[in-house]
Amino acid sequence: MIGSTAWAGKRFAVLGLARSGRATVDALVASGAHVVAWDADADKREAVVHAAQAQSLALDRVDLSIADPLTIDLTGFDGVVVSPGVPLNTHPIAAHARAVAVPVISDIELFAQARAGLPPHLVVGITGTNGKSTTTALIHHILQTAGVPNTMGGNIGLPILGQDALPAGGVYVLELSSYQIDLTQSLDCDVAVLLNITPDHLDRYDGFDAYAASKARLFAMQSAGHAAIIGIGDEASAAIARTVTRGGRAEDVTKIAPGICMDQSRWPALQGPHNAQNALAAIAACEALGVSREAIDAGLAGFGGLPHRTQIVGTVSGVRFVDDSKATNPESVAPALRAFDRVHWILGGVAKSDNLDACRPGFGHVAAAYTIGEASPLFQRLLSDAPFPVEPCSTIDVAVQRAFAAARPGETVLLSPACASFDQFSDYAARGAAFVRAVEDLR
Ligand code: ADP
Repeated sequence: MIGSTAWAGKRFAVLGLARSGRATVDALVASGAHVVAWDADADKREAVVHAAQAQSLALDRVDLSIADPLTIDLTGFDGVVVSPGVPLNTHPIAAHARAVAVPVISDIELFAQARAGLPPHLVVGITGTNGKSTTTALIHHILQTAGVPNTMGGNIGLPILGQDALPAGGVYVLELSSYQIDLTQSLDCDVAVLLNITPDHLDRYDGFDAYAASKARLFAMQSAGHAAIIGIGDEASAAIARTVTRGGRAEDVTKIAPGICMDQSRWPALQGPHNAQNALAAIAACEALGVSREAIDAGLAGFGGLPHRTQIVGTVSGVRFVDDSKATNPESVAPALRAFDRVHWILGGVAKSDNLDACRPGFGHVAAAYTIGEASPLFQRLLSDAPFPVEPCSTIDVAVQRAFAAARPGETVLLSPACASFDQFSDYAARGAAFVRAVEDLR
C-alpha cells in the first residue's frame, strides 16, 4: 500500500467505494488521516468498515466514519476524493465542496502528493480515447522484460494506492482516464502519453472541446524537460502537440504520426494499425525511460495482449473468432476490421452516437454484418447503403451461429460492437465471455 506521512491528522471525505475508493480509504486511514467515507451501496460501505477494523488490529488508531459528504459540513477538510465513476458535471458534490473551498480530487492526486515520500522513481501517465489499457500493459510488459521494477495502476483496474511502493529506480505506469485527469492537480509525469482523442463520454463533458481540454491537462501539469509523447492522427491531439511545442517544450515532444508502415509480424498480439500506434507510443515511452532497444524488441515480441481487445479466442473449421468486446465506440472498431481480410462483423448494444462513420475505413474488409441488442434497428438503417449484407440477430449467440454458417475457412468472425454493453450484459468483459461461450458451443 502507498501512503504518506503528509496525510496524518488531515481530514478527507471519500465518495465512491468501489476498488479505488476502498484502496484510498485504506491508504488514508493507515497514514493517520481522519476519513469520512460514503457509497450509495450499503454493502460497499460495510466492506470498507470491515477492512478498517481489520487494519485497526495493526494500527494504534483508526479514524473512519461513514456519512454522505453531501450531508455534512466540509469546512476544514483537506480534500474530497471522488471516484471517477461519479459524474461531476451533474453530481452536487462539486458545488458542495467548492462552497467551502475544499478541493475535489482523485486517488491519482493523492498518489501525486505521496510521491515526495517514495524512493526515487519515475511516473509514466497514459491517456487517450482508445488504446490506453493496451499501451499501459505493453509498457509494463517491456519494463518487466528489461528487469526494471515497475507497477501498473489507475484506470486499468488496479488502484494505485493499493500497490506496493517500488524500490529506488522503479517506474509507476498509470493509465489515466479523462475523469481521473480532471480530478488531478499536481501529477508531473516524467513521461506523458496521449494516444488519440475522438468523441466519447460526451455525456460527462460540455462538448468535445471540453473533453479534449481534459486530456491536454496531463501535459499542462508536466515540468519542462519531461517527455510528451503525442499521437497526431486526429486534429484535437495534433493541436495539443502544437500547444506543448509552442509552450517552449519542443524538445520534449515526440509525435506519433498515423499510418506509419511497420513490420508487425514479430508482434502477434499487436496486429492492426491501431496497435502500430500503441506500439510506437510504448517504444517512445520506453526509450525516454532509458530502456535498451533489445529489451524493447523482446518486450514487443513477447507481449500477450489483453483480453477482449482484438483477441483471437479460437478457430473452428478454419474460421477464426476474434473478441474485440472492448471496442465500445465506432473509432475503436475501424482498426479491428482492417486487421483481418474478410470479416463477419458482429456489432450492437447501446449505441454511443447516431452514426458509424468512423467504422467506414474498415468496410472494405467486411463480408457481412450481424447486429445485436438495442442498437440493432439503428445500425440496420445506418448500414443500409453499406457494400455488404446486414442481418438482424438480436443476441450474440444467434449472431455467432449465423456468422459461422456464412463464413468460409480463412475468414474471421469479429465481435467489435461499437457500443456499450449495458442492454444485455453487466460490462464489456461479460459480453466477451458470452461470445467465447457461443464459439465453444459451435465445436
Ligand atoms: P482503452 O483502455 O483506452 O479503452 P484498450 O486498449 O482497452 O483502450 O482498447 C479498447 C478498444 O480500442 C479495443 O477494441 C481496441 O482494439 C481498440 N484500440 C486499441 N488501441 C487503439 C488505438 N490506438 N486507436 C483506436 N482504437 C484502438
